[in-house]
Amino acid sequence: MNKARQTEAVDIAIIGGGIAGLWTLARLRHSGYQAFLLEADQLGGVQSNASQGIIHGGTKYALTGKLTHSSQAIQQMPKRWQDCLNGQGEVDLSQARVLSEHQFLWSNKSLATKITGFFASKVMSSRMKKLPIDDFVAPFNQKNFKGDLYQLDEPVLDIQSVIDTLRKQYSEVIFQADIQGLARISTAQKSNDDHVYNIALSYENDASKKLLAKVVVLTSGSGNECLLSSLKQSQPEMQRRPLYMPMLKASENILPKMYAHCLGASALPKMTITSHTLDVQETNAKQTVWYLGGEIAEQGVGRSLEEQVNIAKKELASLMPWMDFSTCQWSALAIDRAEPKMPDGSRPVEPWVSYEQDIISAWPVKLAMAPVMVDKIILQLEALAIDKNSSARASEASLLDLPKAKTSPLPWEKVQHWI
Ligand SMILES: Cc1cc2nc3c(=O)[nH]c(=O)nc-3n(C[C@H](O)[C@H](O)[C@H](O)COP(=O)(O)OP(=O)(O)OC[C@H]3O[C@@H](n4cnc5c(N)ncnc54)[C@H](O)[C@@H]3O)c2cc1C
Repeated sequence: MNKARQTEAVDIAIIGGGIAGLWTLARLRHSGYQAFLLEADQLGGVQSNASQGIIHGGTKYALTGKLTHSSQAIQQMPKRWQDCLNGQGEVDLSQARVLSEHQFLWSNKSLATKITGFFASKVMSSRMKKLPIDDFVAPFNQKNFKGDLYQLDEPVLDIQSVIDTLRKQYSEVIFQADIQGLARISTAQKSNDDHVYNIALSYENDASKKLLAKVVVLTSGSGNECLLSSLKQSQPEMQRRPLYMPMLKASENILPKMYAHCLGASALPKMTITSHTLDVQETNAKQTVWYLGGEIAEQGVGRSLEEQVNIAKKELASLMPWMDFSTCQWSALAIDRAEPKMPDGSRPVEPWVSYEQDIISAWPVKLAMAPVMVDKIILQLEALAIDKNSSARASEASLLDLPKAKTSPLPWEKVQHWI
């Protein structure tokens, strides 16, 4: 750090501390880059902690009966994440928690007969196994459940613990700063001292606060849109695909832990249920939260909270008529998935990484695909030949006069009023 310079300067500034930014930071630091992360609020606090934590291997996208391009791209993800969870992968997630080693698929009897042939095919049988009745897990392990149950070898993770594990490893270089805008520095504006710095980042709505960077990596989810427009850069364009995720809570004897997709007639599961633990401070007790994704969350957009809860109640009662949900308390989370814009607004199948004049824009598209997104970022940085192993500057991190970013609570920990 040059003492004469008034403004802090870094090689690589990563903006946004969800899974995309944190995975990027971990890989870049490990490779010797002088990278820093700036998070507007709390780490994981927008999409990442609100995700269901499912590390897809693509089976969900094969449910129409054929393996699509999308399901092939994602196949390696469970293994890559598993290596990280074992402490032997590209990032160290050995302290992160696995909620379940498996996901389950269930179907009612009439659908089961239609898809049994496909599920028994060679390509699918390597990914899942049909469970014999004696091995049925809760809440399917009782006589009123008449359908089939399949087990997938794709884990479900406690994403808050993933985010927090990465935060702890790199806390020295993770700061809280709401980046308001970016500006490319023209050659005429550069002083001799900082001629290698190309981008000025302004933060906290204070014109005097600036940070310089050689390269900026935008991993700010829906925030990418605003930051790109501050550069007057029209590409890449972003799309938002909204969800309205119902959630219900009760004690564990009413809501057993389950991680399962209910198969419907379309490629999208009718409902995907993941389970999470909620500490109830007043009573010191633990409750289970069921978080409902899939068709119900896609189709619920635009409904009022009461409508969405009532529809979710009816749907659960029809899917699991043997269960009693009458004492559960309900809420729902409205949230957008932020992604690169597809011409027809459809779901992108691959992580997005693009480069223009010292700015890398990235969206992982799925949390599970963050590793592939970061591979692409690293290829881009290698092409730019940014200095590595600037060990003399490694301790500069602590010089940034900014607060450290904390890990966000989970969506159900933020609900003020359950109905
Ligand atoms: C309800 C839901 C369920 C999902 N379930 C799954 C799943 O089970 N499996 C799966 O693989 N994927 C899932 N996804 C998709 C997955 O969550 C996202 O693809 C992934 O979390 C995106 O990560 P991200 O880091 O790009 O974005 P985010 O997690 O949104 O992080 C972006 C960060 O940037 C910060 N930021 C924004 N603007 C600025 C700024 N100006 N300055 C500084 N910081 C800024 C934000 O505060 C935020 O922390 C789900 C998504 C949703 C919405």
